[in-house]
Amino acid sequence: MTTDQTARPREFPSQQQEPPGSTAAMTPVPDHGESTYQGSGKLTGLRTLITGGDSGIGRAVALAFAREGADVAITYLPEEQDDADATMELVRSAGRAGFAYAADLRSHEACADVVARAAGELGGLDVLVNNAGYQMAREGGIESIDPDRLDRVMKTNLYALFWMTQEALAHLKAGGCVVNCSSIQAYDPSVSLLDYASTKAAINNATVNLAAELGPRGIRVNAVAPGPIWTPLQPATQPPEKVETFGQDTPLGRAGQPAEVAPAFVFLASPRDASYVSGTVLGVTGGKPVF
Ligand code: NAD
Ligand code: MG
Repeated sequence: MTTDQTARPREFPSQQQEPPGSTAAMTPVPDHGESTYQGSGKLTGLRTLITGGDSGIGRAVALAFAREGADVAITYLPEEQDDADATMELVRSAGRAGFAYAADLRSHEACADVVARAAGELGGLDVLVNNAGYQMAREGGIESIDPDRLDRVMKTNLYALFWMTQEALAHLKAGGCVVNCSSIQAYDPSVSLLDYASTKAAINNATVNLAAELGPRGIRVNAVAPGPIWTPLQPATQPPEKVETFGQDTPLGRAGQPAEVAPAFVFLASPRDASYVSGTVLGVTGGKPVF
């Protein structure tokens, strides 16, 4: 796999999946940094938990964290077993401990359970990455957003982030941190993603506010705002014709790969490199403005 960005895919074959989507069904399969990411001990010995770490951005973050010396627990949905197994293989091949928990995080109980299991098996918790997310592009107006859909988007993207963070705070000590996954949609919302985009704007707001609340405890809180990234979420939630040109509306003219987002999470998680960075949202957008 190349690190030359001009050789990255600039268009995609038409394809469609059902949520939550799988990596193996994608053409081409995304680059998570398998043959390129080189660690340099930035996260040595840290105990990390990544929601939705089975695929896409979460898998690339899990791989990078492990190669930087962290032990990694992930959550995934029960139907994503194959993807979760593949991420675990990457973490363990890096010589680190890996744990994976099948859980739908749309309940406080499920969030409490995975945090308790992760803290138990990792022997504590230093970094929480709230990465799991859900969207579904729609054709109709706001009237077409039915209660079930609204509930799924809000609970997955926002409620789970609150519940995971509440539970993690029983374990995070001074020097620990939370990294949330926002989106370009917080700044430049697509009409078809009204509900999803609003959760990402809320995540930005909560990130800054939580940084203020937890700073006195020595806990940093930041977010990464990715632009269009080639992950299972896209063919599973966008119409096939949109998938073909996905990412071409960015200044760099193409979608990003998960491997190109993970280093931002590594930086924000690093107690050495990001020791004075809190309350910020780091854009990885292919050139789209994040302000
Ligand atoms: P992905 O589908 O690979 O990962 C999303 C993960 O969220 C899934 O693997 C699944 O395990 C998890 N998830 C979904 N619903 C869940 C639920 N109810 N309970 C528990 N887990 C659930 O896609 P991705 O693009 O890597 O998404 C990761 C994050 O990146 C999301 O927060 C997404 O909003 C954000 N993001 C993605 C893009 C993009 O273009 N791909 C852009 C900006 C932000
Ligand atoms: Mg997945």
